[in-house]
Amino acid sequence: MSAGAITIDGLSKRYGEKTVVRALDLRVARGEIFGFLGPNGSGKSTTIKMLCGLVRPTDGHASVLGFDVARETERVRRVIGYMSQSFSLYGDLTVEENLEFYGRAYGLAPERRRERKREVVDLVGIEPFVRFRSATLSGGWKQRLALACALLHEPAVVFLDEPTAGIDPVARRDLWNLLFALAERGVTLFVTTHYMDEAERCSRLGYIYDGELVAAGTEEELRRLPGVDPPDAARYSVAAEEIMLAYAAARRLPYVRDVTIFGRQLHVLTEAGVAPERLRADLAPVTEIGEIVRIAPSLEDIFLVLTRGREAR
Ligand code: ADP
Repeated sequence: MSAGAITIDGLSKRYGEKTVVRALDLRVARGEIFGFLGPNGSGKSTTIKMLCGLVRPTDGHASVLGFDVARETERVRRVIGYMSQSFSLYGDLTVEENLEFYGRAYGLAPERRRERKREVVDLVGIEPFVRFRSATLSGGWKQRLALACALLHEPAVVFLDEPTAGIDPVARRDLWNLLFALAERGVTLFVTTHYMDEAERCSRLGYIYDGELVAAGTEEELRRLPGVDPPDAARYSVAAEEIMLAYAAARRLPYVRDVTIFGRQLHVLTEAGVAPERLRADLAPVTEIGEIVRIAPSLEDIFLVLTRGREAR
């Protein structure tokens, strides 16, 4: 692993009696796209805000590029970019004016400001809209402008808190292509998302539940965690016409350990040695059954297992 971009040791945040981030330990290397996942209210935003120097940790330490987030806040702010879903764009200002505003806020000298504005406009491809008021942009273009603003001072580490929430699939894909382009240039990205297809595109993932980091690693590493892919079980994807009927029927089968609905398919965890034909025969009386395929646990399966493990405690 190359030199660390983000180092977190025992980081905690308490609000009154409630601990919302609990003794978090984590390392993120330079140039990584680190995906930070977890249910709503699990402490993702609070963690990001602590790393950006916006919220003061109750306990523990964290540093970004070697700068302590609590003691060297100003230095941290100079090397990071922060973009959230509610990033403040000025709706009455044009795209160009928003960039100008943020360029000044970051204290960029006029020459540098001109240069960087041009570069970020090129990077996010917003040239055709520079004279548009930002309020008139679509959700996807607003997010690209927000990203452009967050990149003006050329941050080496960028925190993105649900950057694609509420934007359409094409705009999501475009924004992700931008994130890859940034990572290729060596920028470190720390991203929260609820979309599994986005999580799959991250180089490493962390999963936080109720303030605790449950697991961190590559998708492969997470898949090898205890309980995720038990050797004495098999996981099948089952396509079914009436998904709820198939779900109810599958749950009643004695050899089925777990069933989850994913769109028009069920993921069924059975005892090892149960043939797909048996599953088909047992479900066919309730609805038409399509393809049954043996699968490795998806990221969603992995997070469900990890979450249930926590809830059971
Ligand atoms: P996430 O980003 O994972 O949805 P948050 O970090 O926003 O989670 O919130 C974690 C918990 O901390 C939630 O229970 C939330 O209500 C609580 N919380 C966040 N900010 C504050 C605050 N300023 N004061 C009190 N509680 C807060």
